[in-house]
Amino acid sequence: MKKVISMALAAVLAVGVLAGCSKQNPQSLENIKKAGKIVMYTNAAFPPFEYREGSNVAGVDVDIANEIAKDIGVTLEIKDVEFETIIGAVQSGKCAFGAAGMTVKPERLEQVDFSTKYVKSKQYLILKKGSTVKTIEDLKGKKVGVQTATTGNLILDDEISEGVLKGNEALKTYDDAIIASQDLIAGRIDAVVIDKLPAESIAKTNEGLQAIEMVYADGSNTEEEYAICVQKGNKELLDSINSTLDKLIKAGKIDEYVLNHTSKK
Ligand code: GLN
Repeated sequence: MKKVISMALAAVLAVGVLAGCSKQNPQSLENIKKAGKIVMYTNAAFPPFEYREGSNVAGVDVDIANEIAKDIGVTLEIKDVEFETIIGAVQSGKCAFGAAGMTVKPERLEQVDFSTKYVKSKQYLILKKGSTVKTIEDLKGKKVGVQTATTGNLILDDEISEGVLKGNEALKTYDDAIIASQDLIAGRIDAVVIDKLPAESIAKTNEGLQAIEMVYADGSNTEEEYAICVQKGNKELLDSINSTLDKLIKAGKIDEYVLNHTSKK
């Protein structure tokens, strides 16, 4: 009898603790609604997905985030931070979600939950016009710039440690690809590796630079897909984000946002 009572008590306590937890999570859908605002973390040096427009942040991810906020019935607040800090901020509940042209990767899936994928991308090379680099293998012996903790950084790390660039130590990490490209223009590095549309945008706005797809000598390339990340287990918020995303994808809105911001940037 005693055992039954203590088990029942334990069950009641467990339910209480769980309920308490979800109430206390500032990023639960319920608490976001109560606060009247939703906070997004991004890195606004990744045009056309996020870029600075005066003191504001604009871009494809901002348009999507505005729709997410509208569907929940709250206002959107954006924080422009370094890319490598976004996942940690989402994990610790500093923000509701990260939207930063972020690629779904198995190692990231261990840290956060991802939404429906909404854009496909590839890695590109930004080079000076007239550069002889055509493939990733051509980067051997060259100085390469990447944005810290991005997929470009991860791919180059792998190729340098045990792939086609084995032994090439000259990888330089930067806070973002725009800063890296300044070093490319100044001749301090030979190439920048970053996603397709930001690469094309940076090349377009810098006379003397070009962007080409990063292919291997055998013709193979890199492919990735972007999604929005939330804290692990924050299902209600993720469901809400997914319903907005699904609606936008079906209506062709994401393609529209990409075209619009690509023409501006
Ligand atoms: N898609 C790349 C990644 O997820 C780059 C994203 C970014 O620089 N904002 O790592």
